[in-house]
Amino acid sequence: MLNRITASAKDAGRDGADVTLVAVSKQQPDEKIDAMLATGQRVFGENRVQEAQGRWEGRRVGVELRLIGPLQSNKVREAVALFDVIETVDREKLARALAEDIARSGRTPRLYVQVNTGEEPQKAGIAPAEADGFIALCRDLGLTIEGLMCIPPEAEPAGPHFTLLGGIAARNGLSKLSMGMSADFETAVRFGATSVRVGSALFGGRG
Ligand SMILES: *Cc1c(COP(=O)(O)O)cnc(C)c1O
Repeated sequence: MLNRITASAKDAGRDGADVTLVAVSKQQPDEKIDAMLATGQRVFGENRVQEAQGRWEGRRVGVELRLIGPLQSNKVREAVALFDVIETVDREKLARALAEDIARSGRTPRLYVQVNTGEEPQKAGIAPAEADGFIALCRDLGLTIEGLMCIPPEAEPAGPHFTLLGGIAARNGLSKLSMGMSADFETAVRFGATSVRVGSALFGGRG
């Protein structure tokens, strides 16, 4: 996996060390997580707060945990307590709840704004046309946004979506791009991803 990331980066004239592999451990059995930890992998992605709490209790030392699934405002307190990175900030109510809990707890998870680049109604994320305004709002609330995240539509080539995300990031002064999954992480690296979220290609299918 890391070899493929390094090779794609090299193709694009990039350094593979600038791309973080996020191992998406959702719905995977504990044995596979422990085997992955034994390889030295330390960055993991989860899409549900409660599932992650159970799985990572007792396994957290030295591990960076990223929330890559939708976050409900009523789960903000637990998410801020658990995750090092929250990649799915996508609406005002959530941004306000995060700002409040960060001030209350003193914890400062790194934050990404999720953009719904395909404008799919069933998908989370801020619409591309609203992204600039939303990023500005987050900053007004005192939130530090580290980068942007997207999940392109399954049935379309991902490249244009990665380009769109990169453009929004560039004009808002953001350098981090979380994009690319099992099917398209090599493309994502060529289009500038600084982290790729890989589940099934790393662990095998989910149970
Ligand atoms: C599940 C998930 C992934 C990983 O998907 P794979 O296709 O198994 O690599 C990546 N990103 C998000 C947001 C996910 O929910």
